[in-house]
Amino acid sequence: MRTKTVDVLVAGGGTAGVIAGIAAARNGAETIIVDKQRCLGGQFTAGMQGAWVGFSDKKNLIVRGIAWELRNIFKERNAIVEVDPNTDVCFLYDTEIAKVILDEVTSKEPKLTSYLDTAIVDVITEGDTVVGLVVLSQSELMEIRAKVVIDCTGDALVSYKAGAPYELREKKDIQPMTLMGRMCGIDMDRVKQYYDEHPPVLDTHVPPAWHDFKTFPGFMHFGLADELKDVELPPEKEYLRNWLGIFTSTPNPGEVTINCSGAIEAHSIEGFESRAAQENFSQKTLYDVAEAFKKYVPGFENSYLSAIAALLGVRESRRIIGDYKVTLEDFQAAREFEDSIGRGAMPAGAHTPDGVTMYVYDLEPGDSMTIPYRCMLPKGKDGILVAGRCVSYEAPVANCIRCMPQCMVMGQAAGTAAAIAVQKGTTVRNVDMKLLQGTLKQQDVIL
Ligand SMILES: Cc1cc2nc3c(=O)[nH]c(=O)nc-3n(C[C@H](O)[C@H](O)[C@H](O)COP(=O)(O)OP(=O)(O)OC[C@H]3O[C@@H](n4cnc5c(N)ncnc54)[C@H](O)[C@@H]3O)c2cc1C
Repeated sequence: MRTKTVDVLVAGGGTAGVIAGIAAARNGAETIIVDKQRCLGGQFTAGMQGAWVGFSDKKNLIVRGIAWELRNIFKERNAIVEVDPNTDVCFLYDTEIAKVILDEVTSKEPKLTSYLDTAIVDVITEGDTVVGLVVLSQSELMEIRAKVVIDCTGDALVSYKAGAPYELREKKDIQPMTLMGRMCGIDMDRVKQYYDEHPPVLDTHVPPAWHDFKTFPGFMHFGLADELKDVELPPEKEYLRNWLGIFTSTPNPGEVTINCSGAIEAHSIEGFESRAAQENFSQKTLYDVAEAFKKYVPGFENSYLSAIAALLGVRESRRIIGDYKVTLEDFQAAREFEDSIGRGAMPAGAHTPDGVTMYVYDLEPGDSMTIPYRCMLPKGKDGILVAGRCVSYEAPVANCIRCMPQCMVMGQAAGTAAAIAVQKGTTVRNVDMKLLQGTLKQQDVIL
C-alpha cells in the first residue's frame, strides 16, 4: 500500500472541510483534503443547497473570514443575490459556480492538495490518538499519516471509527433527510403575482422567527397545502399537502430550488439496502413535488425538474460528545464563551421527524451565540478535531449551529488550530487559545 505523511489531513472536503483545508494550508501546514464526491463543497455544492443562511444577527454581519472571502468572489461573478448582508436571512448563491470557485481558491494554496473521488475506509490510531486514515481512490488504497486529522465528514465518521463517544437520536426523533432539486422554465413574475393575490392561508410553516430578519433577497414560498386544497390526490401522494416544502429562487432567471422532506424516520449512517431505499424514496418525492407545482401553481406551467442533487441532504446523524456540549440554554442566553471561535444567530430548533414543520427558538435582533472551541474536541481522543454539523451540541441547537456559515466558521478555526498545533509541536487540545483567537481575528474572523 502507498503511504504518505502530512501535517494536517482533512477528512471530508465539504462545507466545513474545504474551509478547514484552506485555513490549515494558509497557516503553514502541509495539508491534504480527502472527499468521496467529485467536487469540493459537500452540501454547499453537491448537496445543491443554494441558500447560505447565518451571516446576520438581524442587525449586523456576524460571519466574515474565509466564508466572506467566498461571498466576495460570488459577488464579482454575479453568482449571488443579497439585499443587505447585515439583515438578510440568507444569500442565494449559484451552487454550480460554487464548485468552480472552490477549485480556484484551493488551487491557489501551495501547501494544499485535494484528493477527490476518494473514500475514507479506515482510521489509524495509536492508543487514544488518531494518527491517520486509509483511503481508497479508484482501486488503490493509500495510508495517509498526519499530525492532526480534522473530521469534517458530517457524520463524525472518523471519530466514530476511532471509538470516540457520540450521540445519535432514535429514528422516531431524528430530523428528516431531504434531497434537494431544482426546477427551471418558471415564469417568476406570474408566480409572484399569483402569491401576492393569493397569500397562503393553510401554509403556516414559515418559522415565525424568520420574520424578524428585515431583508430576504429573492422569492421564497413554504408548503403546498393551499395549492392542493381543492385537489383530490391518490393516497400515496397525500403527504404533499402536509410536508414542509421550501421553494427558493436562485440567482438564475426562472429557476427555483426545492427543499422538501424526503426520507423520514431514517438513519443516514445505515448503508446498503437502507441507504438505497432512502435515496430512491427521496428522489421519487422530489419528482412528485415538481409535478404538483407544474400542475397546480400558475407560472409553473412550462417548468420542469432540471436537476437532482448528487448528494443526499442529511440534517442530522452522529454528533460527537465533546469536551463541551453546547446547550439550548447557551443559545438562549447568547452565551459569550471564553474559547469562542465564531458566532451563530439563526433561530435554533429543528425540523420535526415527520417532515411536516420545524420548531424554533429565537434570539433578539443583535444577539448571537458564540461557538466554543471545546465543542470540536472529541472527549478522550487526541490528534483529532471535528468541524461541521457533527460537533457537540444538544439536538435543539441544531438549526443555529449546522448552518453553512457556522460550519465554515468551525472549519476555519479547526484548520487554523491544527496548523498552530503542528507549528508549536503541541496537541490540538493544548493549543494556546489567545494565539488561536488572535490569529483568527487577524484573518478577518468575527469572534
Ligand atoms: C436539506 C437541507 C437543507 C438545508 N438548508 C440550509 C440552508 O438553507 N442554509 C444553510 O446555511 N444550511 C442549510 N442546511 C445545513 C447545511 O447545509 C449543512 O448542515 C452543512 O452544509 C453541513 O456541512 P458539513 O461540512 O458538516 O457536511 P457536508 O457539507 O455534508 O460535508 C461532508 C463531506 O464529507 C464527505 N465524506 C463523508 N464521508 C466520507 C467518506 N467516507 N469518505 C470521503 N468523504 C466523505 C462528504 O462527501 C462531504 O463532502 C441544510 C441541510 C440540509 C440537509
